[in-house]
Amino acid sequence: MGIEEFVKDTRIAYFSMEIGIRPEMHTYSGGLGILAGDTLKSAADLRIPMIGVTLIHRMGYFRQELDPFGRQIEHPDPWDIEKYLKRINIKVSVEIERKPVYITAWYYVIESTTGGKVPVIFLDTEIPENDPVNRTLTHYLYGGDLEYRLKQEIILGIGGVRVLDELGFEIRKYHMNEGHSSLLTLELLNKFKKPIEEVWSEELVWDVQKVRDLCVFTTHTPVEAGHDRFPYDLVQRILGEPVPMWLIKKLAGDGMLNMTLLGFNLSEYINGVSKKHEEVSERMFPGYEIHAITNGVHPYTWVSESFKNLYNKHLPGWAMEPEIFVRAWKIPEEELWDAHMQAKKSLIDYVNRLTGMNFNYETFTIGFARRATPYKRADLLLSDPERLAIIGEGRVQIIYAGKAHPKDEGGKQLIQRIFQIKERIKDKVKIVYLPNYDMAMAMKLVAGVDIWLNNPLKPLEASGTSGMKATHNGVPNFSVLDGWWIEGWIEGYTGWAIGTLEETSDPKRDAEDLYFKLGNDVLPMFYENRNIWIKVMKNAIAMNAYYFNTHRMIRFYVTEAYIR
Ligand SMILES: *Cc1c(COP(=O)(O)O)cnc(C)c1O
Repeated sequence: MGIEEFVKDTRIAYFSMEIGIRPEMHTYSGGLGILAGDTLKSAADLRIPMIGVTLIHRMGYFRQELDPFGRQIEHPDPWDIEKYLKRINIKVSVEIERKPVYITAWYYVIESTTGGKVPVIFLDTEIPENDPVNRTLTHYLYGGDLEYRLKQEIILGIGGVRVLDELGFEIRKYHMNEGHSSLLTLELLNKFKKPIEEVWSEELVWDVQKVRDLCVFTTHTPVEAGHDRFPYDLVQRILGEPVPMWLIKKLAGDGMLNMTLLGFNLSEYINGVSKKHEEVSERMFPGYEIHAITNGVHPYTWVSESFKNLYNKHLPGWAMEPEIFVRAWKIPEEELWDAHMQAKKSLIDYVNRLTGMNFNYETFTIGFARRATPYKRADLLLSDPERLAIIGEGRVQIIYAGKAHPKDEGGKQLIQRIFQIKERIKDKVKIVYLPNYDMAMAMKLVAGVDIWLNNPLKPLEASGTSGMKATHNGVPNFSVLDGWWIEGWIEGYTGWAIGTLEETSDPKRDAEDLYFKLGNDVLPMFYENRNIWIKVMKNAIAMNAYYFNTHRMIRFYVTEAYIR
């Protein structure tokens, strides 16, 4: 059996420019892609008839090397496609610059221990029918210029729908994970075009309502500039007019083709990824009804070995029913601490192997790893290095990781600044910056540190998910009140807040709060009140992990968005 096995029953197609399933498959860059992978894994666990659609990204995002000064060097990051994917014998074409570009496809099957299976289709233009330039269109995730990006979005949106049709799938919902796949709506408009004899005017051949009924759109971007936009002269040249330009402009905006607007206007259900993000998005797009479905992470993927054993013993069934985490207080304190120390030792050994820094098992360890980009403020903790040295001397060690997008100069400088400061205070507080952050490293970090730090500028964190991964391993969060943490935070019980609930950040106040709570609340509890600390760990599991998982999340998508 091949992909045909899934044709008859699949009803929901989940489109995403990146899908991160496993670290060996370099088809993701960060949070968006891993969320997509976690979503499909929970769908497999719960036997939801879904299929994923993405691009193959033969050369990955990039492999990050850091020189001794923290300068980022980017390398192509190819992966072993034949080892993980199966070929589908198929060829469809899309029109790019008025000429056909041919697309083939591969697939991967996510298999759950429940027997549930969800296939993921990877679109590929590396075939002899294409000229050498078009063959590279599915090489780099978020690589190239605007033109390259638009071409990739044609392949994903239009090509993706054509591949599903060609294979015989009967899809009832198309879920667009961000605007990169919004062009699928144009393909659907064409597909459901009414015969001209049946309607009163030429305009009415376009059955917008029919397409809306088929589509769901999830936005992830709380800043105006983050939404994909293309100038119409480029659109005209690359995409042409799969539907008339007056209609495209009506649906996607007059000035530029805005992929979010296009997705919004053709989706009956639109959501942001946390309650705060819903609020921010509604303000950014007045007149649209935007719902909130807060993100989650896939429990089985993000629980470390030692915690799997612990949960299997005390909370059997947790992986398929994470609501069971609500009973985390049943876990004996010593056993919880042992499981944590196993994860921590394994992380510290790994760090020492990579860096020779001599981190130790007993010292309070702070983890900070995510995309290196200015708004995430990786250097907030280092904004007053002398103060950090006083608070943390001999009591704190810090692990950083994260890639900067190749075009993000601010992000690259941020990494260099961390390198400079870590040298300056290395005799007091040990800091490492690990190169090439990926899913495998994230797994080690979120489980092995003592606290997970997150302090982006508000309100720019739509949700954030790495903190949720930490809670699945009993690691509390120390974070600004933005995204998911507004919903997960109970001060001193599930972790700690940095700053206030106000919607915008006050950088001075954030730094002050960070140092003050670290020195006065967090470190004293960790070193002098270990029993209370372990209770906070239990709360992270019982009050955060039990909710912020993709099982809960996808059930919301099914009942709120898919079945309507
Ligand atoms: C989870 C994860 C992210 C997303 O982290 P955020 O805190 O949501 O920014 C990014 N990169 C990797 C490798 C991850 O595992």
